[in-house]
Formats: sequence, structure tokens, C-alpha cells
Amino acid sequence: MSKLSGKVAVVTGASKGIGAGIARALAAEGASVIVNYASSKEGADAVVGDIIGAGGKAVAVKGDVSKEADAAGIVQSAIDHFGRLDVLVNNSGIYGWAKIEEVTAEDYRRQFDVNVLGPLLTTKAASPHLSEGASVINISSTVTSLLPADSAVYSGTKGALDAITGVLANELAPRKIRVNAILPGLTETDGTRASGFTGSEFEQSIVAQTPLGRTGQPDDIAAVAVFLASDDARWVTGERLIVSGGLR
Ligand code: NAP
Repeated sequence: MSKLSGKVAVVTGASKGIGAGIARALAAEGASVIVNYASSKEGADAVVGDIIGAGGKAVAVKGDVSKEADAAGIVQSAIDHFGRLDVLVNNSGIYGWAKIEEVTAEDYRRQFDVNVLGPLLTTKAASPHLSEGASVINISSTVTSLLPADSAVYSGTKGALDAITGVLANELAPRKIRVNAILPGLTETDGTRASGFTGSEFEQSIVAQTPLGRTGQPDDIAAVAVFLASDDARWVTGERLIVSGGLR
């Protein structure tokens, strides 16, 4: 039997990149998936099309995770369409790097709203619905251990997410709900291509320092999300799993 058959998952920011990879992988293991997007309807529809084409179940749902009503709507769609909620992947995220002299309050609010408030509001909305044994997976980043220059705001958001992961693991444990974080290393996505990381000198220096000698792909991260979502990880909570080819 598939690892996630009968389970229902919400993946935020699943119209592209790591989120799209996770949505496809959860569905391939039998989960019914809410494919959330903020603006890329076409991308989300393509992911849903792939899942349905492969015999799975998925629905695309628009919503900005940093808005409370939207976060509630994303979660409610899982209940409306599939009747339960077992897996929440807080993946939506934006990244903006800047030297400290160039940091603005506006960019701080933009990044913290999506990367920190988003997971808080989505988990708040999900909590009453999460089944016993449910799994919450927060997509953090290896920046919280590498601490690269020029990333104070972005690394700050992911450091906050790591702390929130630990707190919620303790808080939700009495209901047998597990909360873990995945810390991907540099992973080739639409986001890294659009922001110029892919093909940059920064990428070359990351690859040179990475023991396994390449950047990650969404599938590399998705395989770990399937593990954390499944009963194979039943004794794993409050963890920060670094998934980066050995770079830490
Ligand atoms: P991406 O390709 O840019 O995709 C980002 C996704 O987030 C898109 O689906 C986007 O939806 C969605 N999103 C953005 N703002 C949103 C909002 N307000 N509400 C709901 N969804 C929103 O990004 P990625 O590279 O796959 O990154 C995914 C996650 O992994 C992020 O949390 C990122 O910080 C983390 N991460 C990435 C890397 C990397 O190297 N790629 C490394 C470590 C950690 P629309 O397309 O509809 O706007």
C-alpha cells in the first residue's frame, strides 16, 4: 500500500518550485492534495493536472498565506473537498537578500509576513482540523546554520520559523501531531532562477563547498517531506532536517 493513502495534505506555495515537487510526491504516495498558490494559477493548474493524470486527487486553491481569511480558506478547502486534514506543508516563501545598509522596513514586513506570519496563520487555521498522528512540515533553510552575509532579513525569517517549529512540536504533541522543519540547501527552482541565484557565482561557491557536489532539485526535498508526512517518521518531532548534500 502507498505510504499516504487515505491522507489529505495542504501544500502552500505549490504552484512551482519545491512546493510543486512536494505536492506531486505526496500525491504519488496516495495523498489527496490542496495545491495552494498566490498568483500563479497556471502553475497550480499544471501541478493538479499532473497529479490527476497520474491517477491522484488534487485541487488548486488560491490564497495569500499572510492574510488570515485566506489561510483559513486554504485549510477549509481541504475539509470541503476531502473531508479531513493529515498533513500541512508550510512551504510558501519569498527571499530577498540585501546588505544591512539597504534593509528596509517594507522588505522586512514583506518577508516576515509570508515566511513567518504565513505559517503561523495557516497552522492556526489547520490546528482544529488536524487528525491524531498528523504531520506539520515547515520549509526552513540551511541559511539558519550557514548564516550567509547579506541575508539578515531572510535568515531572520527562517530562524523564527525554526523556533516556531520547536514550540509547536511541544504544543501539539499531546494530540500526537508532529511538527518538523526541512532545511533545504540551495535548490534549483523558479524562485532561484528568477532571483538570479541559479547560474551565479554564489551558486558555484555553494556547489564547491557541498560534499555531494551539486545544488538540490525539488525532488530531493520532496522525498524527505514524504518521509516526514508518513508513519515512518512517527517518532520524529521537533527536528530540523538539513537536506543539502552535506553542506551545513
Ligand atoms: P518559488 O519557486 O519562488 O515558489 C514560491 C511559491 O510560494 C510559489 O508557489 C508562490 O506562489 C508561493 N507564494 C509566494 N508568496 C505567497 C503567499 N503570500 N501566499 C501563498 N503562496 C505564496 O520558491 P522555492 O525556491 O520553491 O522556495 C520554496 C520554499 O523553500 C520557500 O519557503 C523558500 O524560502 C524555501 N527554500 C528554498 C531554497 C531554494 O534554494 N530554492 C532553499 C532553502 C529554502 P505564486 O507562484 O502563485 O506566487
